[in-house]
Amino acid sequence: MSGIHIHPHDILDEGMSNIIPHLEKLRDLQYLFPQINTIFERNPVPIGSLPRNPVHSVVYGNGTMQIVAPSYSDRGLDLRREPGISADRDPLMIIKKAMVDTNIEVVPWANILNGHFEGDRLQHNQVIDYVGRPVQHWLCPNGPDVIELWAQVFADLFKRYGFTCVMIDRIRFPDWAGTAIDPTQVLTCFCEHCQKGMHTIGLDPDAVRQAIGSWVALLGEKQFDTAGYFARNNEVLAAWFRFRQDSVSAFIARLIEHTSSIAPGFTLWIDLWPPAYSWFLGQDYAELTAMAPTVKHFPYHKLGGGADVQGLIESLASADAEREAAFSAFLNFFDLPYPLSYAEFTADGFPIEFVRDQNDLVRRKSAPGTRIFSGVQMWNLPPENLVDAICAAEESAADDVLYYCYGWATDDLFEAVRNLRDKGTH
Ligand SMILES: [Zn+2]
Repeated sequence: MSGIHIHPHDILDEGMSNIIPHLEKLRDLQYLFPQINTIFERNPVPIGSLPRNPVHSVVYGNGTMQIVAPSYSDRGLDLRREPGISADRDPLMIIKKAMVDTNIEVVPWANILNGHFEGDRLQHNQVIDYVGRPVQHWLCPNGPDVIELWAQVFADLFKRYGFTCVMIDRIRFPDWAGTAIDPTQVLTCFCEHCQKGMHTIGLDPDAVRQAIGSWVALLGEKQFDTAGYFARNNEVLAAWFRFRQDSVSAFIARLIEHTSSIAPGFTLWIDLWPPAYSWFLGQDYAELTAMAPTVKHFPYHKLGGGADVQGLIESLASADAEREAAFSAFLNFFDLPYPLSYAEFTADGFPIEFVRDQNDLVRRKSAPGTRIFSGVQMWNLPPENLVDAICAAEESAADDVLYYCYGWATDDLFEAVRNLRDKGTH
C-alpha cells in the first residue's frame, strides 16, 4: 500500500475531479498527505513546470499556513496565513470531503520548525548560528513557545476537520540548503535556551564554538578529509551532535504529551532524513521511533538522498580537483560506501543500492514494529528510474512507498506505476 504527498495549490488549481483519476493509476493508494503549511520551495524543484496545473506553471512556496485556523498572534508566535484561503476556498476541507466515501485515508502533513513565523515572541524562539546570527524562518526545538503553537494548531485542526493523525516534517535543525546554500546554517543552535541546555549537561557553548571554528578553518583551507576526521572524532563536537539529537527527541516527546489530549488516539507520524544524514541534523531514529509508530524518509538516490550535495560541494570547493576531494570526504563523513567520483555523482546521483541500504538501516535503527515508508522521487526523472526506485524500496526492509509528489509528477510517471501494478513491469 502506498501514499502520496499533495500540495494545497494542486487541490485548488486542478480540482479533485482531475486529481482522482491520477490517484487511481497508483492502484494501491492508501494514504493522501496534503500539506497544511508550505516551505520555501519552488514547485517543482529545481526547474521545470507543473505538468497539469491549469492556473500556475510554477508556484513558489512561502512558508504560509494553508488551512482555516484562528489567529494565534495573541500568543506572540504565529505562522503567516496564505491569502486566499477561506472557508469557501479550503483545500484541506475539499480533499477531506472528496475522500469520504473512498478507502483512502487523509493524513495532513505539517512542517513544524520551518516556515514564515511571526510575532512578538519570534526572536525568543529562533535558531541562532555559532556567530550569533538568526537563521531566517527556522524555529529552535528548545524555543519556549513552539510546542504550544503547534499543539493549538493540531487542536484546531481536529476541531474543524476531525483529523487525529498528522505527519510532522522539518523536525530538525536547519540543513545547508534554503533560499541559498549556506553551510553555516548547520552550525546551530546557540540561542539562549540551547546554551542554557548545554550548560545543564556540562557542555560549554564556548568550547563548542571553538571546536566549530577549528572545523570551519580546516574546510576553509580545503583540507576536507582532515576536516571530516576532526568533526567525527572530536569529543566536544560529538557531545554537541548528541545534544542536538536529544533536543529534537525531547521536543517530540513534549509535543506528543501536549497533543495526546486532543482526541483519543491522536497520533503523530514523523518524516526524517535518511539515516546517513539524520544524526547530523539532530534526528535519532531509535529515540524518535520509540515515540512515533510510523516513519517516512526519502532515500532519493538520484538526488543524493534529498540533500543538496552538489550545492554543498560547490560552496566548499571551486576547482574540479578540489570538488572531487570534497565529495570523497563527504562520502566518508556520512558513511556512504560507494566508489563514486563527483563527476559520476553529478551525472547519475547515488547508485540504486542507496535505496535498499538506507531502508535497511532505518529498520535496524528503528524501534521494533515501526512502520517504514520509503519516500520515492516522483518527478524530474525517467519512468524507468521511478520503477527502479519502487522495486528497490519493495525489496528492502521498508513496508510501503510514499510518492513525492502529486503535482510535480508528469503523466508518464503515473502510467509507469499503473503498468508496474497491472503488468508487474514497466
Ligand atoms: Zn536553540
